[in-house]
Amino acid sequence: MPSVVSHSVVALLSAKIATGEERPQHFWLWAVVCSILPDADVVAFLFDIRYGEVFGHRGFSHSLSFALILAVLVVRFAFANMVRFSRSWWALVSFFFLITASHGILDAMTDGGLGVAFFAPFDSSRYFLPWRPIRVSPISIVPFFSERGLGVLRSEALWIWIPLFVSLILKILILKWSGRIKADSYKGV
Ligand SMILES: [Zn+2]
Repeated sequence: MPSVVSHSVVALLSAKIATGEERPQHFWLWAVVCSILPDADVVAFLFDIRYGEVFGHRGFSHSLSFALILAVLVVRFAFANMVRFSRSWWALVSFFFLITASHGILDAMTDGGLGVAFFAPFDSSRYFLPWRPIRVSPISIVPFFSERGLGVLRSEALWIWIPLFVSLILKILILKWSGRIKADSYKGV
């Protein structure tokens, strides 16, 4: 897995890039929860569930089905006053689905561990993306504070943080630029 920090960075920056509106605090909180919750499956190791099994690490909780179920539940209970199946309901469900699914996609871009069971529980095959530039993060926190941990952070910064920051800056610049164009065209009227 990429580190918990990187999954959270993905959630927060993607939310910032995707949404142009003010959002309540719990929106940001749930975005982070959705991005890191799939790794709660590491408890499987405590119950002797093996890595490669459907409920093992990178199994069902990293699948697209799980992402959809979680997204619907989050919107149902954390945004209860939203009209079901309205446009904003679909937008919010899609957003939380994509944030949760981004976890498995990032894991499938790492250079270690087993692949991700994207289609569990229907198909337990594990998949990696063809391009895997991200160094896999240690599951335990202890080796994270080591040379290997620094290497992981460096690769995450290069392949995750920087592209997202650049996208956010580009979005801000484009908004400013289009705002200026509008202001100029009003001046010309
Ligand atoms: Zn994971």
